[in-house]
Amino acid sequence: MADYDQPLWQATNSERLDAPSLIGDVTADLAIIGGGYTGCSAALTAAQAGASVCLLEAHQIGHGGSGRNVGLVNAGLWLPPDEIRAHLGQTGGDRLIKLLADAPSEVFARIEAHGMACEPMRNGTLHCAHSVAGYRDLKARHAQLSDAGAPVQLLGVERSRQRTGSPAVHGALFDPRAGTIQPLAYAVGLARAAQQAGARIFTQSPVQSLRQDAGGWILHSHTGTVRARSVIQATNAYHQGLAGTAPAYVSVYYFQYATAPLSDNLRASILPEGEGCWDTGLIMTSFRLDRAGRFVIGGMGDLGGAGGSVHKAWARRKLAELYPQLTDQALIEGWHGRIAMTSDHIPKITAIGPNALAAHGFSGRGIGPGTVFGHLMAQSLLEDDPSLLPVPSVPGYSENWTGLRRAFFETGAALTHLVKARL
Ligand SMILES: Cc1cc2nc3c(=O)[nH]c(=O)nc-3n(C[C@H](O)[C@H](O)[C@H](O)COP(=O)(O)OP(=O)(O)OC[C@H]3O[C@@H](n4cnc5c(N)ncnc54)[C@H](O)[C@@H]3O)c2cc1C
Repeated sequence: MADYDQPLWQATNSERLDAPSLIGDVTADLAIIGGGYTGCSAALTAAQAGASVCLLEAHQIGHGGSGRNVGLVNAGLWLPPDEIRAHLGQTGGDRLIKLLADAPSEVFARIEAHGMACEPMRNGTLHCAHSVAGYRDLKARHAQLSDAGAPVQLLGVERSRQRTGSPAVHGALFDPRAGTIQPLAYAVGLARAAQQAGARIFTQSPVQSLRQDAGGWILHSHTGTVRARSVIQATNAYHQGLAGTAPAYVSVYYFQYATAPLSDNLRASILPEGEGCWDTGLIMTSFRLDRAGRFVIGGMGDLGGAGGSVHKAWARRKLAELYPQLTDQALIEGWHGRIAMTSDHIPKITAIGPNALAAHGFSGRGIGPGTVFGHLMAQSLLEDDPSLLPVPSVPGYSENWTGLRRAFFETGAALTHLVKARL
């Protein structure tokens, strides 16, 4: 039976980390739960600032979304700037927009500074119109993003088709600030850099309990404990155990399929400038090439569920529609991951106790945001300055009908893919 929890990125990762399990009792200024971008970025920042840091990961670094995603390093959230301001107010909205506009620079600067072998390509991204109506949406986004100072370019039908090599796009929004990475290698690279800066990284070490103690916190895993003044919980959609601090979100599956490396001829006809792409479809599609020239296509859906074969049939059909020259290419690697979606699509920081913060709800945009949120949460705790946080922390956060909404998304994705695979 296929294992959809084995992303291609595990086979092509050239970053290495030697991290033991936690055995015995240790103390630290900052304890971090979760080894994805958010946790590893926090660990790197805190260790570079001279704090003693201990990160506990339940499985291996990048086990969660950070090791499974598309690898699009975007500048900003899904939401256009006006909607971010509507949720956070003018000042808070402008601050988050600016922080996330700079997020790709933060990501690529860390990659360069620490020599991370994560296939960085800062050639921009293309948000492609899947229809004429999609192009209208891109025009509105272009206007708002330009007003906010973003150097985005709107490409008409012809230019977008030349740029992508696909006859199926109806225009595109090019963002030169963005790019692509090998996502798992970036997570492992951050952990390796944090370790080199002095952070203690423990893998296969699930935190089973978290409680306050005089002057700080005690974290228990099955073979050890950590005592720390401050805590960051960075478990997002892969939170396990710790019922008292479980984040609230709608869990949405997103899958990807990859071909074998394409021949030089085929490769030259597809995304010759190497951008990463996604489209305006309500049930969206993503596509990109990796460094070896594999074509990677993605869409919403759970490959392990009842709709799994429908999703794969759709991916085959969509591949041929986007690039007719790929019609005969087999889809040889398939995997999926869970996205933590919040109702307003804005990530949340919750104060889970004194000197203890949790972040979640990146809603499918976590490479830049996770890096920035982890960095600023660590700074805020070390400097005891809540104003450094990218969004104000809230004492608690809840979502309604999460199970029902999850089923709604999965059914919607399966039905859409079923119809499109048969057209
Ligand atoms: C398929 C897919 C495609 C995506 N595409 C993109 C994209 O192209 N661009 C983009 O910007 N974002 C994308 N995202 C979103 C992005 O991957 C996530 O937002 C980001 O990885 C979240 O990082 P994180 O560190 O907060 O959480 P995660 O990477 O999920 O890490 C959480 C970690 O916490 C660990 N953990 C949980 N509980 C415990 C515990 N009790 N003790 C110890 N450890 C624990 C987990 O094992 C996990 O490793 C995508 C997500 C998915 C799933």
